[in-house]
Amino acid sequence: MKAAVLKPGRDKAVRNRHHWIFSGAIRDLPDFEPGEILPVRDAGGDLLGHAFFNPRSSIAGRMISFGSEAPEAAVRENLERALALRRTFFDPVVTNALRLVNAEGDGLPGLVADLYDDVLVLQSATLGMDKLKPLVVDTLARALEPRAILERSDLPARREEGLDQVEAVLAGEPVDRVRVLENGVPYWVNLAGGQKTGFYLDQRESRQLVRAHAAGRKVLNMFAYSGSFSVCALLGGAVRADSVDSSAAAMSLAQDNFDLNGLGSESGTFFTADVFEFLREPTLEHDFLILDPPAFAKKRADVVAACRGYKDINRLALKRVRAPGLVLTFSCSHFVDEGLFRQVVFEAAAEAGRRARILQRHRQALDHPVNVYHPETDYLKGFLLYVD
Ligand code: SAH
Repeated sequence: MKAAVLKPGRDKAVRNRHHWIFSGAIRDLPDFEPGEILPVRDAGGDLLGHAFFNPRSSIAGRMISFGSEAPEAAVRENLERALALRRTFFDPVVTNALRLVNAEGDGLPGLVADLYDDVLVLQSATLGMDKLKPLVVDTLARALEPRAILERSDLPARREEGLDQVEAVLAGEPVDRVRVLENGVPYWVNLAGGQKTGFYLDQRESRQLVRAHAAGRKVLNMFAYSGSFSVCALLGGAVRADSVDSSAAAMSLAQDNFDLNGLGSESGTFFTADVFEFLREPTLEHDFLILDPPAFAKKRADVVAACRGYKDINRLALKRVRAPGLVLTFSCSHFVDEGLFRQVVFEAAAEAGRRARILQRHRQALDHPVNVYHPETDYLKGFLLYVD
């Protein structure tokens, strides 16, 4: 029977349930169709599990089952386990926007599934997962009975897999925009042309934090996209919340989210601007600054330049925040880990000449679980700083 065989001594990661097989770890590969599922054996012939393979990618194989478990049964069971986890933690009456499947975090390499009320949005990053799509759609459709299933596989990472960007309606009618609830707060989610699959679900817990600490404060929300942090700040009693994003479409979405929440024009201004420039302009007076930039390091080689960017915006923010004030600062680059990000924030504070203390640390929301065997699923980190 055909199998992929690993080099001697290169089976440790897979034995430890890491999902990725790099091409350098493989001794023999049979003839196979790109995307095909193959058994994976160690050099001694022991079966380690099954992976799908793509010869174009440096991550040549991705494990979808371990040990003797049948691969398709494992996919179905991992989907069911992922749904069970979310059912434990979310009451759809207060929160109906959530990540149901977090790729390797849920043991499903390259698959993201987000639910926005009754609309399911799928995103596949890999050829092997593209091929498993019928199984995924069937399993999730039976379990959730969504009104529509959309595909938003428009990730740059697909290029490395030799795949096109795909936006499609897999079931039901096309849906451009859906109104969701998160902790009782309504938001518009743009499904057509929006960022990510539509909403930054990973910041749910940080939105609650902003709501809890905004009373009486003047908030400046940078990299604001949907304006969700601004909405939460105002619902939490902020005096005002101004929002900055370089995308005019984002600022228009943020305005719509203010309208949806009954927040009038006195609540804040929307600036379509580059944060790096905005922070250098003469300042409006704010005592709670939020920095939630996109990932500056998309690969390891970007880390040095990314840290320069993070340091820049954090220095400028720390300089301008009115004391006593708060700065909530994030990095969503996996390659900039918490220790490195903390170092960057420390240097930024030193250069700004401000006293800053870390009050709290934040990670991605709990529907974005980190697979302990696959640390690459850990990416979002943030610090709540007190500046006086
Ligand atoms: N906090 C947001 C998510 C931020 S995503 C939320 O809760 O929804 C990052 C955002 O940064 C995107 O909307 C992107 O348009 C914006 N962005 C990227 N580079 C920027 C820059 N240099 N200046 C301002 N905005 C930028």
